[in-house]
Amino acid sequence: MDSFDPGRGRAFARFAAGDGADVDAAVAAARTALRGPWRQMGPAERGRILAKAAAMLRERAARFAVVESLDSGKRLSEAEGDLRGVARAFEYYAGAADKLHGEGLPLGRLYVGFTSQEPVGVVAQIIPWNYPLSTAARGIAPALAAGCTVVAKPAEQTPFTALMLAELLHEAGLPAGVLNVVTGTGAEAGAPLVAHPDIDHITFTGSVATGSAVMRSAADNVTRLVLELGGKSPLVVLADCDMNAALNGVVEAIYENAGQICSAGSRLVLDRSIADVFLGRLVAWVEKFRIGHGLTNPDLGPVNSRRQLDIIDAHVRRAVKAGNHVLTGGAIATSDAGGWFYQPTIISAQSAADPLVQEEIFGPVLVVQIVDGPDEALTAANATSYALVAGIYSQNITEALRFARDVDAGQVFINEWFAGGIEVPFGGNRKSGFGREKGMAGLRSYCKMKSVVARI
Ligand code: ADP
Repeated sequence: MDSFDPGRGRAFARFAAGDGADVDAAVAAARTALRGPWRQMGPAERGRILAKAAAMLRERAARFAVVESLDSGKRLSEAEGDLRGVARAFEYYAGAADKLHGEGLPLGRLYVGFTSQEPVGVVAQIIPWNYPLSTAARGIAPALAAGCTVVAKPAEQTPFTALMLAELLHEAGLPAGVLNVVTGTGAEAGAPLVAHPDIDHITFTGSVATGSAVMRSAADNVTRLVLELGGKSPLVVLADCDMNAALNGVVEAIYENAGQICSAGSRLVLDRSIADVFLGRLVAWVEKFRIGHGLTNPDLGPVNSRRQLDIIDAHVRRAVKAGNHVLTGGAIATSDAGGWFYQPTIISAQSAADPLVQEEIFGPVLVVQIVDGPDEALTAANATSYALVAGIYSQNITEALRFARDVDAGQVFINEWFAGGIEVPFGGNRKSGFGREKGMAGLRSYCKMKSVVARI
């Protein structure tokens, strides 16, 4: 298959179109490897391999970042940031591998009872195109730390860095068959993988529609799963905010990776008393954006595919037709590089029920909802079927912590969007999915608990 450079809209490399037979071979290899030398290695030895991989990722970060930028379209500086995060993920789980212990159970003098954490087994990872290597790493690193074996299926738009990661991990000492990558489409490679009866756990990151199809497929085999799906995350800006910090936060929240982030802050919930000043400054900033090829480090890069560009455009056209007010942008952009670009867009919403407010657009389109005070802000924040992340900008820590208590979201940011790192568990509620990745919770996703009780 061809993979495209979104900044030019042209194919730049080819990769193998895997199918059900490749999936069968990969799952069989992973099952065999689960019983092989991998099982004999102690947790500390697994940790050492992951630590070595982290060091190698740092040494080779520049090359990985160029490939990631070319394949996904994201700005090179963002891809470099992703690589720092990926190395951290391996470092973090390297340190955790030998600290995964069970507990003693208080059963009295006549019994000895304890729990242990066993690797869940063969794990399938279905990876999306917006954060190809980051998403692969946040699943693969804890799965390996726990002692699992993996079959990963990167998105057909962005297959290369997962292949490079597998190569690097084997160089770092991973035994053959422990990590397998099958490239190909969702229908030809993804579907047979998640339906495979010899898979013990699925981690899926992607759209709600595909996620529920994956869940149906998992149900047939009673395969456990973690679903990390979409979001329409609210970024609340109260009247007492630090306005510069909030403006920076909004720009990062919605224009990073051209808005193609499940945890993007795509709804600005803004207090009426500062709305004119805030939006004036925001629009002026955004209108100065330089749009260009990811490798040139512009302010805004391309979107990942022609299809995604058309989806974004259709959302905006429908919103305009419904009478929502475009403050800036609102159309496909042209650029000297060619490629698939959308103007940085800000639209003021007519009503909370509008699809503009309710539906994930996955592009550089910010929706503004004007509210009066913290109570209305909370109501607006909670008024979609998604609940992935939420953020608030306020100098009043009590108000911010009340919002954190009352908002439905898997993760809450206070005074910095995207705050935190691999240490922070991540995942959603409601239509945003369930289960947690990252942090120690992410490691436990790849374990099955066993209780042992002896009468003495
Ligand atoms: P998008 O619609 O933006 O491409 P998807 O959720 O469909 O997002 O894709 C996320 C990942 O899921 C990709 O790796 C894709 O190939 C894969 N995928 C798509 N359809 C299926 C499916 N039916 N079963 C398993 N994986 C799938």
